[in-house]
Amino acid sequence: MPTLFTRIIQGEIPAEIVYQDEHVVAFRDIQPVAPIHVLIVPRTEIEGLATLPETGDHLRILNAAKIIAEQLGLGNGYRLVINQGEDGGQTVPHLHAHLLGGRKMNWPPG
Ligand code: AMP
Repeated sequence: MPTLFTRIIQGEIPAEIVYQDEHVVAFRDIQPVAPIHVLIVPRTEIEGLATLPETGDHLRILNAAKIIAEQLGLGNGYRLVINQGEDGGQTVPHLHAHLLGGRKMNWPPG
C-alpha cells in the first residue's frame, strides 16, 4: 500500500510541486504553518529517521532544501525540521523534511 506521499509523487493526489529531481520531490504543505512551508520527500519510501538506511534518496534532502530555499527567496534564513514518531509529532509515515520560512522562527520549538 503506497504512502500518501508516494501517491502525491506518482501524481494520484494533487499537490503544488515546487521542486523535483531523481531523488526527492518537494511540494507545498496543505496546512502551512509559515508563509513558506514545503515538504521535501525522498522518492524511496522510508518510514522515518528511526529506520533510516545508510544510503539512498534521503541523502539528497539537504541539498534539495538549499536549492528550494534559494529558488523561493529565503536568503534571510529558514528552518528545516524532521519529525520522528509520536513524540516528534510525525503524522505521515514516509520520511519528509519541513522547509519553513517567510517569518522569524521561535526557539525552542513547541
Ligand atoms: P508530519 O506531521 O511531520 O508527519 O508532517 C506531515 C505533513 O503533511 C503535515 O504538515 C500535513 O499538513 C501535511 N500533509 C498532509 N496531507 C497532505 C497533502 N495531501 N498535501 C500536502 N501536505 C499534506
